[in-house]
Amino acid sequence: MSKKILLVEPAYKTKYPPLGLMKISTYHKMRGDDVTFVKGCSTRARNEFWDRVYISTLFTYTWKETVKTIKFYKEALFYASSNIYVGGILANILPDELYNATGILPVEGLLDDTKKLDQDDNIIIDDLPPDYEILKQVEINNFKYTHQDAYLGYATRGCIRTCAFCAVHKFEPFKPYIKISDKIKDISNMYGEKQNLLLMDNNVLASKHFEKIINDIKDAGFYKGATFGKTKKRRIVDFNQGLDARLLTEKKMKKLSEIPLEPMRIAFDDIKYKKTYIKAVRLAHKYEQRYMSNYILFNFRDTPEDFYERLEINIKLNEEFAKKPFNSNGARTIIYSFPMRYFPLNAKNRVVDTGNKYWNKRYLRGLQVILNVMKGSVMPGADFFYQAFGETPEEFKSILLMPDEFIMNRVKPNWQKIKERTKRLRPYVEKWRADYQSLSIKERKALIGILVHNKINNIHGSMIKNKKVIKLIECHLNAEDIVSKNRNGQKKY
Ligand code: SF4
Repeated sequence: MSKKILLVEPAYKTKYPPLGLMKISTYHKMRGDDVTFVKGCSTRARNEFWDRVYISTLFTYTWKETVKTIKFYKEALFYASSNIYVGGILANILPDELYNATGILPVEGLLDDTKKLDQDDNIIIDDLPPDYEILKQVEINNFKYTHQDAYLGYATRGCIRTCAFCAVHKFEPFKPYIKISDKIKDISNMYGEKQNLLLMDNNVLASKHFEKIINDIKDAGFYKGATFGKTKKRRIVDFNQGLDARLLTEKKMKKLSEIPLEPMRIAFDDIKYKKTYIKAVRLAHKYEQRYMSNYILFNFRDTPEDFYERLEINIKLNEEFAKKPFNSNGARTIIYSFPMRYFPLNAKNRVVDTGNKYWNKRYLRGLQVILNVMKGSVMPGADFFYQAFGETPEEFKSILLMPDEFIMNRVKPNWQKIKERTKRLRPYVEKWRADYQSLSIKERKALIGILVHNKINNIHGSMIKNKKVIKLIECHLNAEDIVSKNRNGQKKY
């Protein structure tokens, strides 16, 4: 008899479709079951009867929303916990805590064992194609998953490394080869052809079958210059978890250049990999890789100075490549940097002290404000970079210490037309800079000591004796006022 199955993704923000739930959907539909997919807590869904409920989980900092969702559906099943299955990243990182909070014992690891979901057949769910159809069921209130036009899958699983800030090695053993062309065929047969290929491999370069994997990708129709459909849209391949710069040899880069990789993603997590990273990016340029999108981890063991240096390296590489394009049209490698803030693996929210003593709350907040203005990524142009982040690591830190309103409203309108960078600044920012630069090392320390907690109330209560420091603190207390007066033409500052 057909069963009623409910799939749930908690209502946290996410770009990528929930691959695990999509595979579970295929499995149940193969058995003739009736599958419904919802995002978040749906009262309508809760009022129905379900034979089974599957709930996915993602990052640990979505803890609150995830626990709320599990409890919500647990009530719907009259607390029949054995019919609720919870899996995914959070469930794997915090299984005991999740059990204590919800009474549900999470499903750990991949769906590669029939016992994990109490199956009465031999089907390995992890090997099944994802069901794209379910995604349409949650297209409400302007919400839509991206990458629906892409084959989603893996050509390898897991990773050979054990980076301290990453959980992959804890629950995915390394599997060096999956025949991706077969997976693509299965998806095409069931859900039609897709334009692009999105591979979620954690470390494909570590596979000894790397050449074979690239050949499989090409055989599946993803070779350089490949197009899709009648309108001949360009096909692209994206290894969205990034490639390991330490494993990128010339031979591998040459092979990678046979597929339409866009963007090529490499992590620059630690300044100690500076040489390796630069070598990898230069190799990419040599083999005419057009776009690169590189993760810059911060607030782990780094400093604001080396974070700045890593960003600046990308800016300098962009300049270097601009001088030697691939062709007469000026085509060259362009690197976009994506700063990514580190959160401890078991952090249950985003307000957490990582123990990094170089980044304080004020610096982190200041950087967040800069990145918000830039919508998360750092543009490749040098002028833009030095304007946004300062011309030296010291200046960068002084920008981070400014009031948020100053950071957001630093430059005059049409600043691009003003050649000299300092002349682009609003008068109150110029004044802030001058006042800050006039501080002695001791005074700077005193200022930072007051701002580190990033709490205006604390500032009110502090006993500040130094007049120069008081002046800068007053800017924090009156920032909104100063900015709006300047905007209205009352340039008090
Ligand atoms: S190389 Fe990447 S996937 Fe592998 S452990 Fe390190 S961060 Fe994780």
